[in-house]
This record gives sequence, structure tokens and C-alpha cells, in this order.
Amino acid sequence: MKAKLIDGKAVSAKLRESLKQEVANLAEEGITPGLAVIIVGDDPASKVYVRNKEKACEELGIYSEKYELPAQTTQEELTELVKKLNQKPDIDGILVQLPLPKHLDEKAIIETISPSKDVDAFHAQNVGRIMIGDYKFLPCTPAGIMELIASTGIPVEGKECVVVGRSNIVGKPMAMLLLHQNGTVTICHSRTKNLAEVTKRADILVVAIGKAKFITADMVKEGAVVIDVGMNRDENGKLCGDVDFDAVCEVAGAITPVPGGVGPMTITMLMRNTITAAKG
Ligand code: NDP
Repeated sequence: MKAKLIDGKAVSAKLRESLKQEVANLAEEGITPGLAVIIVGDDPASKVYVRNKEKACEELGIYSEKYELPAQTTQEELTELVKKLNQKPDIDGILVQLPLPKHLDEKAIIETISPSKDVDAFHAQNVGRIMIGDYKFLPCTPAGIMELIASTGIPVEGKECVVVGRSNIVGKPMAMLLLHQNGTVTICHSRTKNLAEVTKRADILVVAIGKAKFITADMVKEGAVVIDVGMNRDENGKLCGDVDFDAVCEVAGAITPVPGGVGPMTITMLMRNTITAAKG
């Protein structure tokens, strides 16, 4: 294997140590960060994510509350709960685990969260703040990716950065963060022509499309930093990314594995946002 492995678990563990210290420092000022997590329905993957978020809170000394609502919860009931949490003084961050059941209006719920408690940074006001570079919170996955890139010691400034995927949660904010660090950014999507030609230009390639092993070695520049956001199951049911890891390892300079790359960073960034919110 040629590429250096970008170890998300190790980077995340190091960051959590410093966050733990921050929580301890806040405790001396009488401040305990508090996170409320709302989950609606019984989606097994969502339950695992919520449990992991609770565990991370416990580990760092962050107070957490979990609201498990039945799948048939109405828009009004969920809205009322969010409004109640907006007013609750011991809660600094509110997270509504997505996706919500189909009958609920996700966008309206996100817009009900007070922007100052929106630790996922999905509220339109926070998205706008990211655009103008005047933000308090960054969305967790792109923020975690910026930490992983920083851990390689390779500066983003002046680099050709290609982001494949343009979702509001990953692709778009990712591109903006790379731009803020003076990368030259291209965003690709399902209508991009000659995708391989574009990805092959990338010094830093971030892939978030949700298609198992889609990015092959011939699409990657020699020595590139490759960040694989995808979480898919391969033909044997094994967890894999959007990048054909084994083959791309022979071309890339550095690469994130799946699992153990981007995934561990996302919850750590949620913890960081909750602490930031508690600081006011
Ligand atoms: P979305 O489904 O919202 O977006 C996928 C994007 O990929 C779209 O912009 C789509 O283009 C683009 N795309 C799809 N097919 C192609 C193609 N053939 N060529 C080029 N672009 C294509 O996904 P998300 O951004 O929410 O998630 C992406 C992946 O990342 C998923 O596997 C998800 O599970 C994972 N993920 C992992 C996280 C983590 O913490 N590790 C966190 C969040 C997501 P178009 O807009 O034109 O349709």
C-alpha cells in the first residue's frame, strides 16, 4: 500500500481529549454543556447513531437528554417539543436525528430549532452564516473532514479541491469550507460530464455520493489526499465507502478508510458544537 492512512479514530480521540479538558474548565465556571437529542420512530441505524451520541456526551462530561418519540408523532407534537427545548436553560444544543418519518416536514422542524442551539448547523440562518464566513457552528461531517485534512499537514491553500456530491449536509458546505481555506474548488454531481477527468485534477478529493466503491484508481491523481465520506454495504454486506479503497491506496498519497475515517469525526464535531453553544 502506497497511501498513508488518515486515521479518523486517532484524530478523533485526540480532539476528544482536548474537548474533555474544555468541559472540565467550563465546570469550574459552573457551566455544564447540555445536548438534547430527539429521535422519532424505530430506525435501527438512527438508534445506533443516537446511542453513540449519548455515549460521547457521557465520555466528555456533557449533560444529555434523549427524547424517543413514537413513529406516529405529529408535526405539532414535535414542533412543541423543539420549542420547549429552545427555552430550556440547561440545554445548549438540540439535535433532531434525521431522517424523520415521511409524514413529518423535516425542513420546518429544522427551522423551528433556535439557531443558537442548532448544533448540526442545518438551520438556514447558520447555513447562510457559513456562506459569508461568519459562523459559530459548522456542520459536523464537513468540519470533521477539515480536521482530517489538517492532520495530514497538507495545506488546502492553492490546492485543486474536488468535491463529488452536492448535498446540503455534506457536499455544499464541504466546498465552502475548502474555499474559506483558499482551495480552488470544483463541485461535481450526477450531471457532471467526464467526471474522471475532473476528479483526476484533484490534489484533495472529497467523495460523498453514497455509491459503493464508485471512485476507481484511474479517477485519482497520483499523491492526492482522498477523503471518503460514503457509508455503503458491498456485495458481501460489508461496510465500505464510495472509493475503491484497495485500488486507490496504490495511487493516492493519503486516504481515509471506511469504517474508521470520516465517521468517528462527525460525533466529535457535534460535541465541539455543543461546547461552543454552551459558551454562548
Ligand atoms: P445525498 O444522497 O444527499 O447526495 C448524493 C450526491 O451524490 C448528490 O449530490 C448526487 O448528485 C451525487 N451523485 C450521485 N450519483 C453520482 C454519480 N454517479 N456521479 C456524481 N455524483 C453523483 O447523500 P449525502 O451527501 O447525504 O451522503 C453521501 C454519502 O455519505 C452516503 O453514503 C452517506 O451515508 C454518507 N454520509 C456519511 C457520514 C459520516 O459521518 N460518515 C455523514 C453523512 C453522510 P445530484 O445532486 O445530481 O443528484
